[in-house]
Amino acid sequence: MEIKITKTENPKEKQTENLGFGKVFTDHMFVMDYERGKGWSNARIIPFENLNLHPAATVFHYGAEIFEGLKAYRTKDGSVQLFRPIENVRRMNNSAERIGLPQIPEEDMLSAILEFVKVEQDWVPYGEGESLYLRPFMFGNDEHLGVHSINRASFLIIASPSGSYYAEGINPVKIMIEDQDVRAVRGGTGYAKCGGNYAAATRAGEKAEKLGFTQVLWLDGVERKYIEEVGAMNVMMKIDGEIITPMLSGSILPGITRKSIIELLKSKGYKVTERKISIDEIIDALKSGKMEEFWGCGTAAVVSPVGELYYEGETYVINDNKIGETTQMLYNTLTDIQWGRTEDKFGWITRI
Ligand SMILES: *Cc1c(COP(=O)(O)O)cnc(C)c1O
Repeated sequence: MEIKITKTENPKEKQTENLGFGKVFTDHMFVMDYERGKGWSNARIIPFENLNLHPAATVFHYGAEIFEGLKAYRTKDGSVQLFRPIENVRRMNNSAERIGLPQIPEEDMLSAILEFVKVEQDWVPYGEGESLYLRPFMFGNDEHLGVHSINRASFLIIASPSGSYYAEGINPVKIMIEDQDVRAVRGGTGYAKCGGNYAAATRAGEKAEKLGFTQVLWLDGVERKYIEEVGAMNVMMKIDGEIITPMLSGSILPGITRKSIIELLKSKGYKVTERKISIDEIIDALKSGKMEEFWGCGTAAVVSPVGELYYEGETYVINDNKIGETTQMLYNTLTDIQWGRTEDKFGWITRI
């Protein structure tokens, strides 16, 4: 795939303080267009700019949008690397297939990501825990209101230098278990990384925030009996010495951090069980003190210890509101690989 590169004539000054998350954007963006019959064309890296879209574009009316999230890391020798980008490429294509958007040949999407990071590599921050967050996304772009299969689409990648998720240390979060709204159902779009899943989650998220919780933990959409995942993270726990995580049932997002943690734990000789976990089992473990650790995992936070769970009017404290041993070990091991502080025995790193 040929990528035409047009560099900006007005590079921005690179902000290094108070980066936060997803607020500052780099100088360029990757763009590519799709038309049924013609396929993907006009791959280009151009100066960052607003989009000019027809008000009838599919994405505005019928929500045809999918995305990915990954980071570019600065190693101590100054080079730049990515963590398992091919996994993001494959998941993006699985999401596209579910939403009726066109897929992109794996090698083309991967080279788009790598080329784009090469152009923006000076934007990868140098501070502890900082990274360049990459956001590939795709949307339907047909310019009419009829509900039809998608004939036109756009694929873009934008990038945002982001601060350390744990600038103030790894503090356990408080999570509310949502017993009204559901995020996804079997046969629905739960396993796709699509904007629509987030739209469906907003109301419960707002309710949780008002009550002083960081995020919600979702229950399954049929019986509201089995736990699924939290906001933008999968969940894992250690009950009575055993590490368990909800199995991928079709309504849970198959996280790359989740997958990596399972592979990592197994390589270290831990037993990890993927199965259905009922809310009753969780509450029993919390009441009997067998819930040793509970954590979320995702690209943004890597791992996020959960210190409090709230369900039907009761608050349960986990591990005295402190990060657990396994959670800390996972955080250290994964971040050491991602930032190149340790040897990558798994072949997860792609250097730019
Ligand atoms: C992206 C995402 C995750 C985490 O996936 P990673 O690949 O580990 O970043 C988990 N749940 C949802 C709903 C997500 O969108």
